[in-house]
Amino acid sequence: MSRFLSARLQALAPYVPGEQPKVKLIKLNTNESPFPPAPGVKEAVAEAADSLQLYNDLSAAKLIKLLAETYGLQDNQITVSNGSDEILAFAFQAFGGSGLAFPDITYGFYPVWAELYGLDAKIIPLTEDFSIDISDYQGNDRCIVIANPNAPTGKALPLSAIQEIAEKNPDQVVIVDEAYVDFGADSALALLPEYDNVLVIRTFSKSRQLAGARLGFAMGSATLIDDLNRVRFSFHPYNVNTLTQAAGAAALMQPDYFEACRSAIMETREWTAQQLLSLGFTVLDSKTNFLFASAPGISGAAYQKALRERNILVRYFDMPRTKNFTRITIGTKAQMEALIQATKEILP
Ligand SMILES: *Cc1c(COP(=O)(O)O)cnc(C)c1O
Repeated sequence: MSRFLSARLQALAPYVPGEQPKVKLIKLNTNESPFPPAPGVKEAVAEAADSLQLYNDLSAAKLIKLLAETYGLQDNQITVSNGSDEILAFAFQAFGGSGLAFPDITYGFYPVWAELYGLDAKIIPLTEDFSIDISDYQGNDRCIVIANPNAPTGKALPLSAIQEIAEKNPDQVVIVDEAYVDFGADSALALLPEYDNVLVIRTFSKSRQLAGARLGFAMGSATLIDDLNRVRFSFHPYNVNTLTQAAGAAALMQPDYFEACRSAIMETREWTAQQLLSLGFTVLDSKTNFLFASAPGISGAAYQKALRERNILVRYFDMPRTKNFTRITIGTKAQMEALIQATKEILP
């Protein structure tokens, strides 16, 4: 820390990303897809590279049109971003003026953005079994942020619960972070025609095989999207580069590949959950591409370390309520078989 850093940022604890190893490990720690990008992505990126001397299309017209067709919306109900982290940060700035409310156990970036932008955060504990109690979110006087399904728990709320939160907070924006929704949860997209306060945020990182391309998007009423674009145009209008726009568009043109990848991951998730249960684990019900599980007779930290020694990376969150748990990304069937084999060796 230099002596020049703004006083306000001196106490900021930045988000700590999962390890990105340089050697070949079985990487089950940051919820990426184990499958390669969709057919056609590589060619589309190569073709787009021919025009890299020019600035990118800041309206991302082709990509937004494809997203609008995919999700049954108008073009002006969508905006895109450099990963969904960026659009979440824009949404916090745009709608968090009177503060934010989110769970104690959720995406670790939320408290960091609140701190960075000087927004007051009301942290609401999950219930004993790691659920969101929607009665905690009624009649709030602040912007609500719900990851649905939640991370790192993997648990999802039904559409009716999100609807009730939107209904009970008509004067606040309800941000629904749907990073994992493609793995079996209900989407709040169905609420958009009726609720002008619902903002849905998605990413290409988890279910569309493009984490390294950095592409996220927001969907909501045209006026909410316009607000987000105000922030975007006050910060960095060219936020989604030419190569990423091409990669995203090409991925959207392969719906069969998308379906095949997400079904394979859901199937492997169920297989892995059964295996862990039969080994005596506690496994939360997951609607994501990961499992949040507690190993019998060994702490989350020790299990993670023992797996690391066997070249398998998983994620452990060192907080009092999660210290017995480990978050395990669902990889290929072969990777999960290796995880189960290693786990049998590790368990006391
Ligand atoms: C991974 C993740 C994101 C961020 O995704 P990017 O698009 O890669 O920035 C946002 N929210 C949650 C809950 C996530 O798990």
